[in-house]
Amino acid sequence: MSLLSSLTQQVIKKNPNEPEFQQAVKEILESLEPVAVAHPEWMEAGIFDRIVEPERQIIFRVSWINDKGVVNVNRGFRVQFNSAIGPYKGGLRLHPSVNLSIIKFLGFEQTFKNSLTGLPIGGAKGGSDFDPKGKSDREIMRFCQSFMTELSKHIGADTDVPAGDIGVGAREIGFMYGQYKRLRNEFTGVLTGKGLSYGGSLARTEATGYGMCYFVEEMLKATNNSFKNKTVVISGSGNVAIYGAEKAIKLGANVVALSDSNGYIYDPTGIKLDTVKKIKEVNRERISEYVKYHPTAEYHEGCSGIWKIKCDIALPCATQNEVNETSAKTLVANGCIAVGEGANMPSTPEAINVFLKSKILFGPAKAVNAGGVATSALEMSQNSIRYSWTFEEVDNKLKAIMSDIYMKTSNAAKEFGFEGNLLAGANIAGFIKVADAMYSEGIAY
Ligand code: GLU
Repeated sequence: MSLLSSLTQQVIKKNPNEPEFQQAVKEILESLEPVAVAHPEWMEAGIFDRIVEPERQIIFRVSWINDKGVVNVNRGFRVQFNSAIGPYKGGLRLHPSVNLSIIKFLGFEQTFKNSLTGLPIGGAKGGSDFDPKGKSDREIMRFCQSFMTELSKHIGADTDVPAGDIGVGAREIGFMYGQYKRLRNEFTGVLTGKGLSYGGSLARTEATGYGMCYFVEEMLKATNNSFKNKTVVISGSGNVAIYGAEKAIKLGANVVALSDSNGYIYDPTGIKLDTVKKIKEVNRERISEYVKYHPTAEYHEGCSGIWKIKCDIALPCATQNEVNETSAKTLVANGCIAVGEGANMPSTPEAINVFLKSKILFGPAKAVNAGGVATSALEMSQNSIRYSWTFEEVDNKLKAIMSDIYMKTSNAAKEFGFEGNLLAGANIAGFIKVADAMYSEGIAY
């Protein structure tokens, strides 16, 4: 009987309607078994039992008035998961699929991801089931203001620092920051991902996608390989996908596909990023528009078909559980040599098994996409010293952080008997720092 399997069962029983949260906990506890054996004092101090329970969960009503004058009601969330190593930190997601299970799984993952960055940030996540699709700028503003009216009571530059995630970019952060300032009469680094004119950091927009490529480049380098001349498929067309594609192209790859929640585009001659940026960032349109500008490209309805495209490197950057067992098998059968998870938990447990068994390079989300939140922490540093670094300064720090995460992850895997398994390595390396801090800080929470 393993030390942690009864805890996994307890979590499943205690959180019965939260499949995504259960999935995230199960995956982490499985890799922590050798750590539990090596640290009986952590078992005795209840570290494992405590780390799977959020420190605080806030659920609130968000009412707002649409352009027709009709009152709408959404549900807002902030799950402050763990503050052992720093103030709570993590994004806000606006998407109709948001519920407590999704926010808890994201907050739990964030705790380990943030620890891996080596920077002093705890784990949290928040958001709402509000659907930004089709809403006017004014509706988005009224929603964000109402959301922040409640959220402002629970956050602060030294308490909890939210940022963006799916459905939350510079526009939403701006509206929320303005409202926080109005309510609190203070100009502090309470949010990250801010615009450059009011305290944002250069390279924050690019950071998650760039960081993903820096990490994947490290994985490839370890097998004497690189992005050069590789065919790359990227799902999603948000911030992570766009800037991941930009960096992959700069590193010599041919990016041939991108997607959104309706379907995917395939352009064997290489995706033209200027067109994608215009469609997604300026016009806020669907990715299907791409074929109007480039008629030789193809648009296909449905998302999972994107993994049937033959590629060397696959970068899932859309959302949780977007790669299932069948897609994973297809990728491997088609000769894919590396998978880097840009989204949070994009591969199902069955898909991960396929990747690990096939021995292709597999970069897990909490390591691969940690560059975003790492750069958020750099934004917090700049806000604290009331100064801003150049793009190159931030980008160089990001590069160093990503290669450090790669080293930590592969070393931890080796040390605990999982050589080559970066998923286990990331879980272990992320956990150890948080566990050590929790142990030092005592048991009263
Ligand atoms: N939402 C991003 C993530 O999943 C960024 C969070 C942040 O910058 O705080 O890590």
